[in-house]
Amino acid sequence: MSEILTIDTEAGLKTTVQDEELDILPVYDDNHSMLSQKIPEYTGSFPNGTLTVLAKRLRMTMKLYNGVGLSANQCGVFERMFVMRHEGNVLTCINPKIIDESDETDKMQEGCLSFPGMFLTIPRSKWITVQWTDENGDVFDGRMEGLPAVIFQHELDHLNGVKMTDLVKPLALKMAKEKQMKFIKKIKRQMKKK
Ligand SMILES: [Zn+2]
Repeated sequence: MSEILTIDTEAGLKTTVQDEELDILPVYDDNHSMLSQKIPEYTGSFPNGTLTVLAKRLRMTMKLYNGVGLSANQCGVFERMFVMRHEGNVLTCINPKIIDESDETDKMQEGCLSFPGMFLTIPRSKWITVQWTDENGDVFDGRMEGLPAVIFQHELDHLNGVKMTDLVKPLALKMAKEKQMKFIKKIKRQMKKK
């Protein structure tokens, strides 16, 4: 566990990890059925102890795996919530919504903690205006573009049961899978050497 403690230097997170050192969530792979399910809106009250702990665990897990976003259903938890990195902070987004989006799209290579070693180029709205609620029940809205806009759209897709592999043509997916297999083999070889 000591390795995890050294991964992030933000004081707040460090304390959290020390307090709850077994609280890292499992991240399920693409075969998990929850990745294909639409998660309903959270309609309960705030603050809710379970949601607060879940938010902390998602943030810790995302940072541990060096991700930029992570949705609750990727960890097998049936809550409409994700966490994402944004300008040096981590946002906790419950019931996230896209209010408006540009018709113009940008393509970026995306990865996903549920598909380790796989990268896919997916067109996404160049900018979006969004709204979400944090674990304290505070409602936020804002405009995102560039990487944060891509992350928000990717994570919101997860909560709607849409995986990045659903968004590309079969040939592109086949090629990405082949590269992913090569990558996994390479990592396994490196691990054997150690
Ligand atoms: Zn993902």
